[in-house]
Amino acid sequence: MKSSRIEGFYRLPVEERLEKVAEFANLKEEEKEILFKTGSLPMDIANRMIENVIGTFELPIGIATNFLIDGKEYLIPMVIEEPSVVAAASNAAKMARFKGGFKTSSTGPRMIGQIQVAKTNPHLARLKVLERKDEIIEKANEQDPMLVSLGGGCVDVEARALQTIEGDMLIVHLIVDVRDAMGANAVNTMAEAVAPLIEKITGGRVYLRIISNLATYRLARAYAIFDKDAIGGEEVVEGVLNAYAFALADPYRCTTHNKGIMNGISAIAIATGNDFRAVEAGAHAYAAMNGYKPLTTYEKDRNGNLVGTIELPIAVGTVGGSTSVNPIAKVNLKILGVKSADELSRVMAAVGLAQNFAALRALATEGIQRGHMSLHARNLAISAGAKGDEVEKVVEILVKERRIRADRAREVLEEIRRRG
Ligand code: NAD
Repeated sequence: MKSSRIEGFYRLPVEERLEKVAEFANLKEEEKEILFKTGSLPMDIANRMIENVIGTFELPIGIATNFLIDGKEYLIPMVIEEPSVVAAASNAAKMARFKGGFKTSSTGPRMIGQIQVAKTNPHLARLKVLERKDEIIEKANEQDPMLVSLGGGCVDVEARALQTIEGDMLIVHLIVDVRDAMGANAVNTMAEAVAPLIEKITGGRVYLRIISNLATYRLARAYAIFDKDAIGGEEVVEGVLNAYAFALADPYRCTTHNKGIMNGISAIAIATGNDFRAVEAGAHAYAAMNGYKPLTTYEKDRNGNLVGTIELPIAVGTVGGSTSVNPIAKVNLKILGVKSADELSRVMAAVGLAQNFAALRALATEGIQRGHMSLHARNLAISAGAKGDEVEKVVEILVKERRIRADRAREVLEEIRRRG
């Protein structure tokens, strides 16, 4: 049996790593080439981004159109593998324009760094920490003069006693304004730096020093009024309200409801080189703070129009992380035209709301399959080997027959080729 224990794999140049993997997995020349051929993310940059790199991975960038947010026009780059998402967002944004598009707000970019203190009297230690808050803030801010010079930095310290299965603990929170950064590195550095001081103050033992992805001080909000006639009339309004009620009452539905929101939000996070796992974790944890609930709400205004709102933590940066390194992320940020991380997070909230509204409207009316399936049919046609004009021909037949299946795509393609 071949061994996955490859000594010094990380030290090898990319080509040699790829060679080792090819040997292990019996990759053919053309398969190696698929991995090694980069697009706009050069191999030397990729190789510095993570460890043990053997290639890059591409996904489509689609542009969602029609977004009017706080009176400003936006084109939204979305990186996603799932068909229908970009079209749905564009469509919802078009409908939102009738009543002025999306309006947004936020709490500002404040992240929480957690410091776990064990082996202490948590209640007394809490008061001692709060007593010396200024000293702790000063120590934290010494770590990042750049951030402080930009108007950010540690702005507050919180502390709370926590009962755990390992006994009572004190949990200290550094509240850090991270400006245009996602902030994890900045906050983690601060949390590590103040740990010895916290140990001295509390007489306890510090263990974890790490950012929290439940960024409750970094909330992005958006709302839109969807004109009842523009979205298809009273029936559609009632349908969406019913869909929302279902999600509010049932976590099985609510998970999918929130997943649809994240289709939009994560696609922008990826397009801009942001940590989409951080955004996803924060979103779902926020949704679960009082029992798992939808991140959006819907109600009817007195004229019968549908009012949608969204609120969730969105910790994203326009500097730092891979955003500053990946050339594709930089171009996508230029297309978005956002001036700050805060603006980016508010745009993402608006797109999340648009995405959710589009999904609920489709579900409450014709179902999502019709739109979805023609795009799915395209993927099947391409997987079956259709090239150029053949793709549309195969799609047309599959959709007309309502037999959108891989086996049928292959048959149809053969028929088309036979007919010439
Ligand atoms: P970073 O350290 O690359 O950049 C932030 C730094 O950039 C700041 O500390 C500041 O000194 C400087 N800076 C320059 N201009 C700035 C501006 N206008 N606004 C703010 N800062 C400015 O990145 P980061 O944002 O601190 O960390 C993000 C990275 O951390 C991501 O790659 C993420 O994947 C990773 N990470 C995440 C977690 C987590 O989410 N749990 C944990 C560890 C690491």
